[in-house]
Amino acid sequence: MIYGEITQKLSLWLWPRSLKPWPRQWAERWGGWILYGGFVAILLWEELWNLENVAYLSGWLLVIITAGAMICSVLFERRFWCRYLCPIGGMNGLFAKLSMTELRAQKGICSATCNTYHCYKGGPAEGEGQGTNGCPVYSHPAQLSDNRNCVLCMTCLKACPHHSVELNRRPPGIELWTTPNATAYEVALLLLLWGAVLLHRLPELTTLVLGSDLILDGFLGHAIAALIALSIPVIITLLAHQLVRLLNPTFKPRPFITLAYGYLPLVLFSNLAHYLQMGLTEAGQVIPLSLATIGQPIGTTASLVWMAHPAVISFLQGTCLIAGVILSGLLIQKVARQPFLKLLPQHIATVLLAVLTWQLVL
Ligand code: SF4
Ligand code: SF4
Repeated sequence: MIYGEITQKLSLWLWPRSLKPWPRQWAERWGGWILYGGFVAILLWEELWNLENVAYLSGWLLVIITAGAMICSVLFERRFWCRYLCPIGGMNGLFAKLSMTELRAQKGICSATCNTYHCYKGGPAEGEGQGTNGCPVYSHPAQLSDNRNCVLCMTCLKACPHHSVELNRRPPGIELWTTPNATAYEVALLLLLWGAVLLHRLPELTTLVLGSDLILDGFLGHAIAALIALSIPVIITLLAHQLVRLLNPTFKPRPFITLAYGYLPLVLFSNLAHYLQMGLTEAGQVIPLSLATIGQPIGTTASLVWMAHPAVISFLQGTCLIAGVILSGLLIQKVARQPFLKLLPQHIATVLLAVLTWQLVL
């Protein structure tokens, strides 16, 4: 976003004008689905063109995301791209719901002592508050009911003259059962990020199901297999929800888009289990590979390579998946507020997908 901010300042300096206000109604309705579509496109691009191992394609991905931020910053006030359209921002906002920290202002102090609202509107320095342009994503820290729309930039903390803004500790994910703001696009994103783990292990998945990964040799077969992998969590979780309804005809469960947030810890930990492999092997080659980029022969820096033992990686991956199942089980109960047995199909779906991920990742 730093490029967006620089572009905004530069364009206003070169061409002084008023930036457009945000089309909030439109963005609330469609922004989430646009970022969802962007994420689907990135995942398919990554899988079908081997983006993660092709440097110029990875570069293009960064250029496109940065260009989105820059174009929106030239057209609209503040950080419209970050709040509504950025696929990475959407993922961060979703996982931020599980955070054990939150930034909030104290409503009592705000309503009793403040009439400038510098945290939100921006303005010059006032008392102990510093001059700022206000919250870059147009959130008021006293009205945040979840972490999704706060990027923890601390602008409001600097701007507030009344010491109202605080960074609090909290039970992880508390907003999911106290102030649930369920949205369909966010649940679709959650299930997509779950499917992404299966997609990243497509050769293992096709070998497990078909006995070989030959189907991935042709583009069409590869594309179909990729779409099926992305859809597996959607199919299993929807089936589980239907089973909950069928097995308990007299019981009216909460809507699917509310209950689906219970899967969030397992989605996070499944992604972690997948990326641990890369984080604990390839990340240890950053220094030699960076030096190789500027001409240092790799042989002379081989001693700087660091990699975890495969057994350590497997242990951590297994621990992640077990922790994900337990935490998801607890969160499902918290969100649904129903007896365990009535939600049994949803718990079974959690275990099933964790076992599948275990087989693919470990
Ligand atoms: S957080 Fe500070 S600046 Fe913002 S409304 Fe409350 S008291 Fe005013
Ligand atoms: S930390 Fe930043 S994004 Fe969050 S409410 Fe404060 S100003 Fe807005």
